[in-house]
Amino acid sequence: MDCSRFNNFRKDRFYRFFHLYNSIYTPNMSNYHIKNLEEYFQVYRKSVREPENFWQEIAEEHFVWRQKWDKVLDWDFSKPEVKWFENAKLNITENCIDRHLLTKGDRPAIIWEPNDNQEEALKITYKELHKKVNQFANVLKDHGIQKGDRVCIYLPMIPELAYAVLACARIGAIHSVVFAGFSASALATRTLDADCKMMITADGSYRGDKTIDLKGIVDKALDQCPDVETVLVVKRIESEISMKEGRDHWLQPLMEAASDECEPEIMDAEDPLFILYTSGSTGKPKGMLHTTGGYMVYTAYTFKNIFNYQNNDVYWCTADIGWITGHSYIVYGPLANGATTLMFEGVPSYPDYGRFWEVVEKHQVNQFYTAPTAIRALAKKNLDFVEKYDLSSLKVLGTVGEPINEEAWHWYDNNIGKSKSPIVDTWWQTETGGIMISPIPFATPTKPTFATLPFPGIQPALMDEEGKEIKGNQVDGRLCIKYPWPSMARTVWRDHDRYRDTYFSAFENKYFTGDGALRDEVGYYRITGRVDDVIIVSGHNLGTAPIEDAINEHPAVAESAIVGFPHDVKGNALYGFVILKEAGESRNQDNLRKEINQQIADKVGPIAKPDKIQFVEGLPKTRSGKIMRRILRKIASKDTSDLGDTSTLLNPEVVESIIEGTL
Ligand code: ATP
Ligand code: MG
Repeated sequence: MDCSRFNNFRKDRFYRFFHLYNSIYTPNMSNYHIKNLEEYFQVYRKSVREPENFWQEIAEEHFVWRQKWDKVLDWDFSKPEVKWFENAKLNITENCIDRHLLTKGDRPAIIWEPNDNQEEALKITYKELHKKVNQFANVLKDHGIQKGDRVCIYLPMIPELAYAVLACARIGAIHSVVFAGFSASALATRTLDADCKMMITADGSYRGDKTIDLKGIVDKALDQCPDVETVLVVKRIESEISMKEGRDHWLQPLMEAASDECEPEIMDAEDPLFILYTSGSTGKPKGMLHTTGGYMVYTAYTFKNIFNYQNNDVYWCTADIGWITGHSYIVYGPLANGATTLMFEGVPSYPDYGRFWEVVEKHQVNQFYTAPTAIRALAKKNLDFVEKYDLSSLKVLGTVGEPINEEAWHWYDNNIGKSKSPIVDTWWQTETGGIMISPIPFATPTKPTFATLPFPGIQPALMDEEGKEIKGNQVDGRLCIKYPWPSMARTVWRDHDRYRDTYFSAFENKYFTGDGALRDEVGYYRITGRVDDVIIVSGHNLGTAPIEDAINEHPAVAESAIVGFPHDVKGNALYGFVILKEAGESRNQDNLRKEINQQIADKVGPIAKPDKIQFVEGLPKTRSGKIMRRILRKIASKDTSDLGDTSTLLNPEVVESIIEGTL
């Protein structure tokens, strides 16, 4: 079979380089779609040769439609305009809830694990979910919400968050979930941008041993948002809050009084489902608009394959529903498969750093999906936190959000997966709606730091700066996608020009991801970081991820970030910000610098050695846990008068301390 025509995968080379790759895990393969590498290629080949037939068959086989489509796909990247399943009619909640009632009505749809491990966990069956979503949908209607209206949801990870999302989808309202760790001003900006009529929130939230005054934040935000007519408030922490007469209502009594039957609104496949703002690592957040039919098909199909979900498995994604990962892989993808999805209210460090593993044991979690930032934080701690728990239920591990460095990958593989659970390193974006490049567990051999191969239907291309596609292997470039896929965002909310300019203008007829990637000798992809972060030193293009990976390999290093700063001779030079593990803190800093530099020289090359290495207590991060390199760039360039939009910054206090220690 000639695979190379379809996605650059070189089977001949693969087997030659096989020893470099992690072993193929032996699977238990009943009831599963893509079973092995050979089958992946068959499926992939079909998805590229006949994309419309490919997606049509999946859509027909796995979902409930009120009316079939006239046309599978219509697209033009120059406008850009993409339509999947034109004129098809459906309601996504029928697919996520109603159709499972007969066969799985009494099975848990959601397992909810509270912040405090002394509080009882909840198992919400499909029948109960149906009831709650219908009641909630009726409450929305009673408060004047109609199809197409925007509803802002600012809730902690409590069941009402999932109910709220699905209730909106039930009646065709467009939800805009804002992560409940954002500030009042970030919330106000998003509420205004989406022009929301309603806000759904809680009195407060628990976060480890702290409580957060959510309602207070909402009140402050709404001072700037006069068009929000109604605020529904979930009682969670029983705090004293002020309720504004006529505007604010407690949710629970309204739910209890509402009917538990709400006919689903029949939606067009291309009707909007939700707006979600990107996490804001790079600048002003963009309100990505996702539509109904294609999003459902893609998230459900990827979920099933990438997590190898089998009947009765318990799946846990630790993300917050406030991010795309939570939308697609806590709510819609799992529920469309009739899966059991775990929602966790708390944080990995409460009551101690063993909490994740305690939850895995308690609920016998089979698939566990988290982010590199969490893995690195936990890997810093004593292994006792892991070893106390029985993790034998785990079958598949996942990571998303940032490039995962090699050391963290091995820690995850050895200590959590016990070297028997494949790690799916899933690359994707808010804009892509679903996972784009990832191993298929038990089929694609994994390789640390590599997202490996494109999912069926995804046609990646690496582009050079002149706009030409770079063919062949052992190359790197800007990562683009050449062909539409069902769950791609259709526009930036009320700013189609920005959508076109950001994603479709850099390379003709291609979606530009903003990320850089390399393709190795067999055709596996590795994401090297954001293209904006690529640093050109003495004419060499250096991605941040491989350098940080080399630094993090040093036993004294916990985490690091590399940025460029202007240099008279080289054009740019590198500046490294490095957090040490406790064990490294007492060491001589000059020696450490030398060792780190040596490690970079060995692993990446001497050109990648930073001019400056500053040891820091912490790194500025977004609330989704990603390093905000644009702030570090300003600090490295000694240009700290205006740090730009910092409303999405998790830990502003570390910025000050880094500035004080600048070299
Ligand atoms: P903004 O677009 O506002 O700057 P963001 O890009 O951080 O925010 P997301 O859509 O949540 O918002 O994140 C997508 C980005 O995260 C990708 O473009 C990529 O840079 C990074 N990413 C996600 N998954 C992976 C992965 N598995 N490996 C490497 N990088 C990843
Ligand atoms: Mg982005």
